[in-house]
Amino acid sequence: MDRIRTGKGPRGAVTRLRVRIRGQVQGVGFRPFVHGLAHRFGLTGWVLNDGEGVLAEVQGEMQGNALDVFLAALNAEAPPLARIDAVESTPIPSLAGEAGFAIRASQAGSVTTGVGPDAAVCPACLAELFDPRDRRYRYPFLNCTHCGPRFTITRRLPYDRPQTSMAGFPLCPDCAAEYADPTNRRFHAQPTACPACGPALSHPIAAILAALSAGKIVAIKGLGGFHLACNAFDAEAVARLRARKQRNGKPFALMVANAASAERFAEVSADERTLLEGIARPVVLLRRGSPLTPTLAPDIAPDLAWLGVMLPYTPIHHLLFHEAAGRPEGTAWLDQPQDLTLVMTSANPGGEPLAIGNAEAHRRLEGIADLIVDHDRDILVRADDSVVRMVAGAPAFLRRGRGHVPVPIRLLRAVPPVLAVGGHLKATVCLTRGDEAFLSQHIGDLDNAATLNFLEETVAHLRRILDVEPVAVAHDLHPDFQSTRFAESLGLPTMPVQHHHAHIAAVLAEHGVDGPSLGLALDGFGLGADGGSWGGEMLLVDGPRFERLGHLAPLAQPGGDAAARQPWRMAAAALARMGRAAEIGPRLGAHGPAEGVRRMIEAGFNAPPTSSCGRWFDAACGLLGVRAVAGFEGEAPMALESLVRTPTVLEGGWRIADGVLDLTPLLESLLQINAQDGADRFHGTLAVALVDWAMPELAARGFDRIALSGGCLMNAVLAEGLTAGFRRRGITALLPRRAPANDGGLSLGQAWVAALTVLANCAK
Ligand code: ZN
Ligand code: ZN
Ligand code: FE
Repeated sequence: MDRIRTGKGPRGAVTRLRVRIRGQVQGVGFRPFVHGLAHRFGLTGWVLNDGEGVLAEVQGEMQGNALDVFLAALNAEAPPLARIDAVESTPIPSLAGEAGFAIRASQAGSVTTGVGPDAAVCPACLAELFDPRDRRYRYPFLNCTHCGPRFTITRRLPYDRPQTSMAGFPLCPDCAAEYADPTNRRFHAQPTACPACGPALSHPIAAILAALSAGKIVAIKGLGGFHLACNAFDAEAVARLRARKQRNGKPFALMVANAASAERFAEVSADERTLLEGIARPVVLLRRGSPLTPTLAPDIAPDLAWLGVMLPYTPIHHLLFHEAAGRPEGTAWLDQPQDLTLVMTSANPGGEPLAIGNAEAHRRLEGIADLIVDHDRDILVRADDSVVRMVAGAPAFLRRGRGHVPVPIRLLRAVPPVLAVGGHLKATVCLTRGDEAFLSQHIGDLDNAATLNFLEETVAHLRRILDVEPVAVAHDLHPDFQSTRFAESLGLPTMPVQHHHAHIAAVLAEHGVDGPSLGLALDGFGLGADGGSWGGEMLLVDGPRFERLGHLAPLAQPGGDAAARQPWRMAAAALARMGRAAEIGPRLGAHGPAEGVRRMIEAGFNAPPTSSCGRWFDAACGLLGVRAVAGFEGEAPMALESLVRTPTVLEGGWRIADGVLDLTPLLESLLQINAQDGADRFHGTLAVALVDWAMPELAARGFDRIALSGGCLMNAVLAEGLTAGFRRRGITALLPRRAPANDGGLSLGQAWVAALTVLANCAK
């Protein structure tokens, strides 16, 4: 809600208001909602959809403040999927003799109904789902105007049934009557369906549950793709899933019936519960309750202090829990703890995109799944589950996907339409339209052709559903990224954006910050403006320009990219930096070819220097023996964060000279302590050192805030240490909230930099 302007009329007189509502207000049941409010407050008038949103005229007595109450209720009680950006009301002459309140037909051609995000089954639909007398009792595809699939079933604009994968399911007379009735919850619900006219599931729910209970791995078609599911208590099944999927130790997400069920093995704060139960239904990282969780299979999230947990969001999910609970009647059971606990991991074998088609699933998941459950409602757009965690008192995305796409991120001002194609890892794309930035769903790592195709499809789909032609395309500075090559193939003006400039710009864009700002980019890898490997940067960012004020001390990266998955190599680099290269063999020889790595570092051969904060984390992990060899980038730092109890600070653990922050003394001290104390000390000291490093630059410029981003900011201990440290010095830390801190947020920053560049060029 940006603003309300209320016209004031003389009390007691009949007043008429013209009310304009902007935002996501079409296709979400807004007109029936306004109709209901008008009825409740005894108002006359009408409501319609037009090209700018919803327009209404309402008339009533000022005496009872009916119009003010109406306007307040408009905001307070808006339908669950509506997003009100602005309500503007102006008094107009009242009409004599008006009776009743009408929902008027939309003005043909003028309506631009946007597509909303997919939403979890609403309470009203759940009540029907478990009511044996309802015609949709246990129907796996029920939905209404307030819930169900949206983004993932929509091919193009306008958002209308013929443009969705429901086009092939003509409504039966009962559904058609609901669809046409302005007072019905399914008025203009495009995906509405019932057992008589809608899609059907390939297997009975009882058979699916029986397979899961028998230890089978079951592929289940969801909203944005297939999941691979198994019983989370069955260690043998989980181990088999891990082996078949070749998932290198990446944690699996869990699905439980409700928050009370999650509390059996995890701590659930009030904020986390709100996230779990929200209509976007992301995977939420929850802290394990205690070591008292012997029943969960150990392979789910090996050695991590957090579990990724989500609640059911499709009727199919709910029906599995309903079946396991013995098919109780009504909805009371939905609040009670349930035993059934499922591993639910994306069906994306080989690091390729999520499977969405039925034939594709049978082809790609053969040999992984024992049973494949599909249905005849096509998924048109891939969307992985979103992943969030609480960081420094508010939610932060680790991955932004289903349930959040295509919700726009509001920009400070309207900009020319630009496209941005992200980086290489955790790719996303972003398209701007007016003062909105549309960040795509998570696409993945662009190291195979299938993921690159997905990126191209995503760009084409975003252009279609937003009806935007970009005037320029932004990409990473790295010339060899597939995303860069794709950008260059589009025939648009290209704009390279330095990786960490983009990270900081993404934070400034979502927080609406104008003017020069200081930012810390604490990251894995990005190509620097000088051609070097950057990732621990202090930048002064001013719109389309930036200046590198400082960086972390460089560490050799022996073996190049291999070092990102072998933290012991970074430990070797740290030992060399301490002048203790002779200890590389004795200390690290067990993990790999230590003498060869030592020679690489000493000769400066295949050991390029990097200022990456992620590699300093890796070095700490390698020295402490935490995941000296990791399955994926970031695994070791996640394990290190898991060990933290209370961060501690080693005074003198860092040196600052000429803008370079050197943590060598801290790392040397880790050689004397155990992994747990080391995790506390590394996190605590790093946060204090970073604040100490940035303060003089902030003070010199009179800044009272700092932007923080980069993959290391997904580490909640570090993010909280920095936020608290800066707050004590009177500085507000801005963290990524609407986009991920990791490279999933890069395209937002690229788009903002490119748009400001286009604006600056126009002004010349
Ligand atoms: Zn519903
Ligand atoms: Zn029907
Ligand atoms: Fe990055």
